[in-house]
Amino acid sequence: MSRSLYPVISIEEAWQRIVSVVRPLPPVALPITEVLGHVLAEDIVAVENMPPFRASAMDGYAVLAEDTSAERRVVGEQDAGRQKPLRIEPGTAVRIMTGAPLPEGADAVIRVEDAVEGDGRLRFSAPASPGDNVRPIGQDITVGDTVLEKGLILGPAEIGLLAMIGHTKVLVHPKPKVAVMATGDELVPPDRTLAPGEIRDSNSYAVAAAVEAAGGRSVRLGLIPDNEAALRAAILEGVSRADMLLSTGGVSMGVRDLIKPLLEKLGTVYFGQVAVRPGKPLTFATIKGVPVFGLPGFPVSSLVSFELFARPALRIMAGQRKLWRPEVPARLNHPIRHSPDRTEFQRAIVALRDGEYWAETTGVQVSGRLKSLVGANALLKLPAGVSEFKQGGAIAAILINQAEVS
Ligand code: AMP
Ligand code: MG
Repeated sequence: MSRSLYPVISIEEAWQRIVSVVRPLPPVALPITEVLGHVLAEDIVAVENMPPFRASAMDGYAVLAEDTSAERRVVGEQDAGRQKPLRIEPGTAVRIMTGAPLPEGADAVIRVEDAVEGDGRLRFSAPASPGDNVRPIGQDITVGDTVLEKGLILGPAEIGLLAMIGHTKVLVHPKPKVAVMATGDELVPPDRTLAPGEIRDSNSYAVAAAVEAAGGRSVRLGLIPDNEAALRAAILEGVSRADMLLSTGGVSMGVRDLIKPLLEKLGTVYFGQVAVRPGKPLTFATIKGVPVFGLPGFPVSSLVSFELFARPALRIMAGQRKLWRPEVPARLNHPIRHSPDRTEFQRAIVALRDGEYWAETTGVQVSGRLKSLVGANALLKLPAGVSEFKQGGAIAAILINQAEVS
């Protein structure tokens, strides 16, 4: 079989090649009940004022502020809801509820706490100034305001605002559909008892979960054996059903590692090796314009490569503008050694102590040991060219449980 040799490129170069082809998905109109977490793809301009009428901000009495009568007559009651045909004249007031429209002639509300009412007479213990306890028309939103800007992530407040202004459908970038397939003759589903030589597929579960956590929708293609026809069919199914395809395994140097040559045949390969540990054999291609990541097979390699390369690519497709997790300086609880040939991302738990992050790695860092990612909240970035990091020394930590900030 033919196997091409790919140059080992830098992390930055790999990312440059990814961004050169990955684009936001075209916007779709969705009802506001379905847009949580989506990125807004249009500016939303208010066509109504909010509040649309002068509204009382308190339970109390609507009055004319300049009226200084010692006693007033209550001429009616205005609840929140439909406006009644009430009118304020000097010497009168209208009992009013929070959120209710102000009666004609009124320009202030005196709080119920500042009033004594008895025998149909009303006295106030405090004077009123025009506008007191009144929410003017357009106080929150004025016609013509851009209330939500393109690129904003829709959360509870933004969705509430859309409902408030009567905007029930919005243009958003859809959540990318991401097909996930695990390759390898040795793999069996997780509900199986293992025969000698078999291992349970954990990658497709972990990677599909990582897709969902990144704001994508996973499409499971299942387990694909290491044979060219089956892999070809699965890859073609993946790129026709999804916006992105992720495979795991089959990208190293073995004779059964068929993914790279297949991607070459079916599309364009942008790189096949990156100077990173774990994840050196990471492969990136497009087929019919659909981005394809050939993630390495070892469980840690597949998840760390997803985190570093596929997740930000998926975010671009989702219309997100912030692609990168917070990277903070952390000090080491213990010395670390690493092989200085490549940048390495060691899994760690960082905690704040006296205003500083302190990091502790999660034990043995081989790429088959999934447990090194369990409970980890950081990747420590150990640069190439340095092999020893001292206890107490500072190192860059990527906080992988926190939202992207840049
Ligand atoms: P490969 O690159 O295909 O040779 O995969 C490297 C190693 O990763 C395999 O020998 C397995 O131990 C492990 N591996 C591959 N695929 C999976 C998977 N889906 N789930 C768990 N481990 C896997
Ligand atoms: Mg394999």
